[in-house]
Amino acid sequence: MRRSILVDMDGVLADVYRRFFELHEQETGNRLSVSDVAGKLESEAFPYILKWVTAGGFFRTVPVMPGSQEGLKRLNDKYKVIVVSLATEFPQSLTDKQFWLNEHFPFINWKQIVFCGDKNIICADIMIDDHPKNLDHFSGETFIFTQPHNIFLSETRHKRVSSWTEIEKLLL
Ligand SMILES: [Mg+2]
Repeated sequence: MRRSILVDMDGVLADVYRRFFELHEQETGNRLSVSDVAGKLESEAFPYILKWVTAGGFFRTVPVMPGSQEGLKRLNDKYKVIVVSLATEFPQSLTDKQFWLNEHFPFINWKQIVFCGDKNIICADIMIDDHPKNLDHFSGETFIFTQPHNIFLSETRHKRVSSWTEIEKLLL
């Protein structure tokens, strides 16, 4: 039987920071860099984030993470891929996220998508996520995808990957 793998959306398939930087600049006129936000949670780094993510449409406009379309397609051929996203906290995000997935990852069918409020309830063999809060309680193999908020994190059991090329090297 194929091994199952949970793949996060924001910060793994969706390049949310690119959009956060753009919106922050539109809002304040100030262009932030990765070093300005390194080590801070998204909510600390971007004071207007709640306004953005609670407004309908935000999750339709997020760019795709470089290499993720080809990479996920290849994982999908070898593993049972489930895309898992924390979404129920922001109900407007639900349809936006599903349409975004349908557009950019059309090979992921509706049975492969889980929108929830807590990832700790989901079991699988492997998990790829950018947030340690999702990975820490997962009993399978864990990969932490490098994003500015987790850049200084060390001494975890999670294998660090910084690109989709690295994910492919380790999992294919
Ligand atoms: Mg994430």
